[in-house]
Amino acid sequence: MPEGDTVYRSAEHLNAALAGTVLTRCDIRVPAFATVDLTGERVDNVVSRGKHLLMRIGAYTLHSHLKMEGAWHVYRRGSSWFRPAFLARAILANDAVEAVGFELGLFEVIERDREDEAVGYLGPDLLGADWDPPLAFANIRREPAREIGLALLDQRNLAGLGNVYRAELCFLRGVLPTRPVGEVRELEKMIELAWRLINANKDRPQRVTTGNLLRDRLWVYGRAGQPCRRCGTTIERGELGDTDLQLRATAWCPSCQR
Ligand SMILES: [Zn+2]
Repeated sequence: MPEGDTVYRSAEHLNAALAGTVLTRCDIRVPAFATVDLTGERVDNVVSRGKHLLMRIGAYTLHSHLKMEGAWHVYRRGSSWFRPAFLARAILANDAVEAVGFELGLFEVIERDREDEAVGYLGPDLLGADWDPPLAFANIRREPAREIGLALLDQRNLAGLGNVYRAELCFLRGVLPTRPVGEVRELEKMIELAWRLINANKDRPQRVTTGNLLRDRLWVYGRAGQPCRRCGTTIERGELGDTDLQLRATAWCPSCQR
């Protein structure tokens, strides 16, 4: 599942390829918007907002979310794609490149001046100009009985974190993901660490939380059953979610985290 850093990089990449150019092809394969044709319109910019992508084209914004398997690829025109064409949901091209959105979890075309209706509910963006640590803190603290592992993933509190950062932040701060928010000591430091980690990773393809760029890049995420890198205790795995439908796996060290 892409996290905010991946989406930020996608936006940078798309912006470099499309901003300031005129679309020569616009092929939207999401049924509700299949008749929308922005050919001839100028792309103003592409930005990320938490884990959402906003492509601003003429009077419209193409709003997408990658969810589990989604990705935007940029190809030189005429080169072959890395994913099968039947998975493409949107194709935008200018004279030089083709941007293809594959398996987008969410895709909609909205009027640009109504972007707020699509993403206005998001909390401060860890990778955005609006980043506001005291607001993120206040948002999380509003529900003191909620598990910290759920509060960190709630994009209304702060935008950009996914499963990987959730697990790694809880490990680095020595807190079980099931610990109620009200019992997390120095929550400000956890928020500050979230900002530092995601910003350190925003320009590199490999996500690192251990400081080791070459190997052993993560502390606990994806390591259930293996020994903790700090104390050797076996990493445990469990599921956390507000509802049964939203359960997502997380991992922790039962010795290092309390
Ligand atoms: Zn440990």
